[in-house]
Amino acid sequence: MEAIVICRGLGKRYGAGDTAVHALQDVDLEIHRGEFLSLSGPSGSGKTTLLNHIGGLDRPTSGEVSVDGRKLGELDKGELADLRLEKIGFVFQAYNLIPVLSAYENVEFILQLQGVHARQRRERARAMLSEVGLEKLGERRPGELSGGQQQRVAIARAMASSPAIVLADEPSANLDSAATEELLALMSRLNEARGMTFCVASHDPRVIEYTRRRVRMRDGRIEADERA
Ligand code: ADP
Ligand code: MG
Repeated sequence: MEAIVICRGLGKRYGAGDTAVHALQDVDLEIHRGEFLSLSGPSGSGKTTLLNHIGGLDRPTSGEVSVDGRKLGELDKGELADLRLEKIGFVFQAYNLIPVLSAYENVEFILQLQGVHARQRRERARAMLSEVGLEKLGERRPGELSGGQQQRVAIARAMASSPAIVLADEPSANLDSAATEELLALMSRLNEARGMTFCVASHDPRVIEYTRRRVRMRDGRIEADERA
């Protein structure tokens, strides 16, 4: 299986001296194409820090991360931004949709950043919204959608650019159990039908149960790595 993400000896220290926090310590992790993986562990165990490093949003203190064969440490700011745009889809707990844009425009926007032509953009944004079951609600703004619907728009947006991997940080944090169930079924279907690779950080047992590979963290280290 092809490795999309490779973390080698990854360490991240925040601060210095007595107050230093070792958010990641000697993390080795490979994520392969087509995996549906959860990062679990108690609050403060380093899940978000690890996702941020995989996504090139933060720089490690030691070790390295490669995404789709590119070593992130060797890229300058602009190259890193391009890699993020092309290779990585992000889904956050707070949805992070642009409030003044419609659902459809939120999905289209990222394609525009990538320089996709208008006609193709429209087709792709429509196709993605219908893939997540929101074809009828594309004209609504985020404030006119439920939390579960907003999170589905966020998934459509993350997937619109056909990234190598989608990183999701506590995607169910603001959802009730029905919406969580729907979100998981959707991710699971996208994983199976489209081979989309997901890495989901969550301490929610309902989420972890759904994933096929379960990586558990504690104190910045990987404590267990199991396949369901
Ligand atoms: P999780 O997502 O598992 O709850 P985090 O990755 O957010 O854990 O945090 C891991 C540790 O790193 C925690 O002790 C947290 O307080 C610390 N930490 C995270 N980000 C920062 C930061 N920007 N500055 C200082 N400490 C941080
Ligand atoms: Mg977190």
